[in-house]
Amino acid sequence: MTAQPSRMHDVTDETRAIVDLVLDYSHRRLLSEDTPLDKPLPAAELARLAGATVTESGIGARKALGLFEHVLAPSCITTDDPRYLSFIPSAPSKAAAAFDLVVSASALYGGSWLEGAGAVHAENEVLRWLAGEFGLPAGAGGVFVQGGTLGNLSALVAAREAARDAADAAGTRPDRWRVVCSAEAHSSIASAARVMDIEVVAVPSDDGVLRGDAVRTALEQHGASVFAVVATAGSTNFGIVDDIAGIADAAADHGVWLHIDGAYGLAAMLSPRTRHLFRGVERADSVIVDPHKWLFAPFDACALIYRDPELGRRAHTQHAEYLDTLTETADWSPSDFAAHLTRRPRGLPLWFSLATYGAGVYRDAITSAIDLAQQIADEIERRPGFTLVRRPQLGVVVFERDDWEKADYDRWSARLLDDQHAFVTPSSHAGRTNARFAILNPRTSFAHLTGILDTMA
Ligand SMILES: *Cc1c(COP(=O)(O)O)cnc(C)c1O
Repeated sequence: MTAQPSRMHDVTDETRAIVDLVLDYSHRRLLSEDTPLDKPLPAAELARLAGATVTESGIGARKALGLFEHVLAPSCITTDDPRYLSFIPSAPSKAAAAFDLVVSASALYGGSWLEGAGAVHAENEVLRWLAGEFGLPAGAGGVFVQGGTLGNLSALVAAREAARDAADAAGTRPDRWRVVCSAEAHSSIASAARVMDIEVVAVPSDDGVLRGDAVRTALEQHGASVFAVVATAGSTNFGIVDDIAGIADAAADHGVWLHIDGAYGLAAMLSPRTRHLFRGVERADSVIVDPHKWLFAPFDACALIYRDPELGRRAHTQHAEYLDTLTETADWSPSDFAAHLTRRPRGLPLWFSLATYGAGVYRDAITSAIDLAQQIADEIERRPGFTLVRRPQLGVVVFERDDWEKADYDRWSARLLDDQHAFVTPSSHAGRTNARFAILNPRTSFAHLTGILDTMA
């Protein structure tokens, strides 16, 4: 038997057949209007159905793709289904999802200007546009990273680096570093704190909104050990926006870095309906927003933007002999702005979609989700047996079915998915189980939502 080291790379009849199979599947899936909601199978059943696929001589593209289409894909919930209302849904625009194929096909490298200037230019145009929408100055910039968790971590690392430099210059480095945020802040802030070995000062509030006076109290209590305050621009559980302007005042008075975690909600700054809720974002030292959430990009992308990108670069640039060619220039290399090196230019699907449709459609799509959230909140308030937990600010609607226990919600949620009716997982607040609609997909309708309420009768 002769070795065939380039069989996987040469353009041959076999290669053409593989590419055709994959593009044909992608074409059907992208244009499908009846992909079922689907649901996970138990691990043992999936293993039995899939069989052994990784073998010494391969099972061939046709068989592998058939397995994907008929066994693996149906065991993955269809996250872009309009009845997917759990967590934070994903609803990539068709242009964005399709362009993701182009990014793969082109083997683009998005880490350095030297290798990927064109891709980096387009990503930066999107980041500059977002920075402008958020009211940040012209010099603001950053990078698309994998997700909000890595975005928050990278921003906080840059903030601590800046505080450490200043403290060392003054000879006053504290024993312990702290970050102040709302008790409702996303779990990724606590995760970043664990990675950084710092402490989180979680400030509680009666209504879930972190305000300037509470931040001031925390800053006075913890003094120079606090290097950053995180304001949440749209909490994941409720879509609550903190009092960003008040927090910005407090942070400025104490000379502390202001980071905005807008992974879910900051996109709503694009809507004239909710823009006013975000006053103060323009004063941030860093912000994040996840395009894979409310900016209709495919997984996975978080836009991380620094007011002064140089502070991000100083904290994150990796130095190594084999990288000298890259780090000895002033070129803009996205790798330098977060805790990563090799990267896919994951901002490109959003770039292509924005360039295709224009920003106006984004504003309309975001506004329609906010309007629908208001409408269904009204409906919940009208229906006997239902209690709205609080009025929605953005697209998250949390409510209770009176007299239901956790077990009732769990049974109901499992049945909704079993019946392929919808994907709505229970949530909880202050120790009470509730139901939660995260509305984001422009194809989600009032009728979808009332249909789900009907199943709780
Ligand atoms: C989703 C979310 C995150 C985490 O983002 P990932 O992309 O899931 O890592 C952080 N903060 C908030 C407010 C979020 O909603």
